[in-house]
Amino acid sequence: MAVDDLSKLVSLCKRRGFVFQSSEIYGGINSCWDYGPLGVELKRNIKDLWWKEMTCRSDIVGIDSSILMHPRVWEASGHVENFTDPLVDCKKCRQRFREDAIDEKGKCPACGGELTDARSFNLMFKTFMGPVEDAASTVFLRPETAQGIYVNFLNVQTTMRMRVPFGIAQIGKAFRNEITPGNFIFRTREFEQMEMQFFVKPGEDDKWMEYWMNTRMDFYRRHGITEGKLRFHQHGEGELAHYAKVAYDIQYEFPIGWQEFEGIHNRTDFDLKRHMEYSGKNLNYTDEISGEKYIPYIIETSAGCDRFLLVSLVDSYWEDTENERIVMKFHKDLAPVKLAILPLMKKEPLVAYAKEIYDNVYNETDFNMQIDFTGSIGKRYRRQDEIGTPYCVTIDFESLEDKKVTVRDRDLMTQERIPVESLVKYLKDNFRNQN
Ligand code: ATP
Repeated sequence: MAVDDLSKLVSLCKRRGFVFQSSEIYGGINSCWDYGPLGVELKRNIKDLWWKEMTCRSDIVGIDSSILMHPRVWEASGHVENFTDPLVDCKKCRQRFREDAIDEKGKCPACGGELTDARSFNLMFKTFMGPVEDAASTVFLRPETAQGIYVNFLNVQTTMRMRVPFGIAQIGKAFRNEITPGNFIFRTREFEQMEMQFFVKPGEDDKWMEYWMNTRMDFYRRHGITEGKLRFHQHGEGELAHYAKVAYDIQYEFPIGWQEFEGIHNRTDFDLKRHMEYSGKNLNYTDEISGEKYIPYIIETSAGCDRFLLVSLVDSYWEDTENERIVMKFHKDLAPVKLAILPLMKKEPLVAYAKEIYDNVYNETDFNMQIDFTGSIGKRYRRQDEIGTPYCVTIDFESLEDKKVTVRDRDLMTQERIPVESLVKYLKDNFRNQN
């Protein structure tokens, strides 16, 4: 059975060290979460896969820009003026809501009370730079990583001698003072984005938009996300952002319904034009071969790292009632622990032999591994299933004699006895030949 309720995942994540509530011993802080030892491995795997996918090609390079930027950036980007949500308050219970998220306009979804008229609420977090807290020292925590790429467009293009079409990728934190955060890590006020901005010649934007839509959807399919739970949603007139010509979301069918986890946008030349206007700097691109000069169009792929992490948790969760176990069927590249080494008993020389095998596999693969001595083998398998470890290697007393170990497969639950000297090759082959 797949996960039908996010609370089951929240509890598994806490129980097994994926995600903890932030500042829990103080009663927690709304919508903030901490990644535990397994969550951080999963997140790192997601970021590594995305980074490799984007930058292991000659037409995309990466950057890491700062979270605090010149305040004028957010005027140029349109965030000061437009990055607002309509906020309504309930006159009775005083709860706040996003007006566009309420089904029955005018009525409080919590208590049925009367709502105030909507006010625009800017979602950017403000802070002060330096010791004086006044308007002149106000800066914002970036609400998206994209602007750090736009303002560095020419720096990157000239230093790396990039020719259009080319892209710049970045992974980093973004902050939004969301009115109604919630649903675990789905909507938080601090989150991580994986964004890639692809600069193209005007007129070639439609072609590249299609290319990136296909490439991004393919990325999720290749990493094991259930085909029937993925779809595109095109932004209609009312939804389209002020900068966009065309926009599509990649959506996943969460237990809370179909929701976006990546946006692909044709942002036209809006961003570079605006930064030219507000900074007074010339951001025109000159093609060094053809000599053409123009302001490139931008196709953006903007994925939420935490949101995709939630997709991967939801999509992997499986209650296997037949075998009385919960299995996280992570794609092997995403699995936070790749291999568990399980000596049958905590006794020498089994323990020493298990450690020797552990070191050997680690040196040859750099897998994140666990070695577990406690409980029955059945219990230990269940523990590994629940954190999605693709393989367990059991070492018994016979192993000391015949130099063979038992490899147990998470999904098939099959057990195969193989010579220990071929273990690394066996693992490498199986990790390579997934799907
Ligand atoms: P929404 O309409 O849900 O507020 P958005 O359309 O504003 O989202 P984008 O600005 O396109 O989102 O952001 C790109 C991606 O960043 C989203 O697809 C999502 O994965 C992620 N993201 C945006 N806001 C949040 C948030 N508050 N918490 C977690 N992830 C977020």
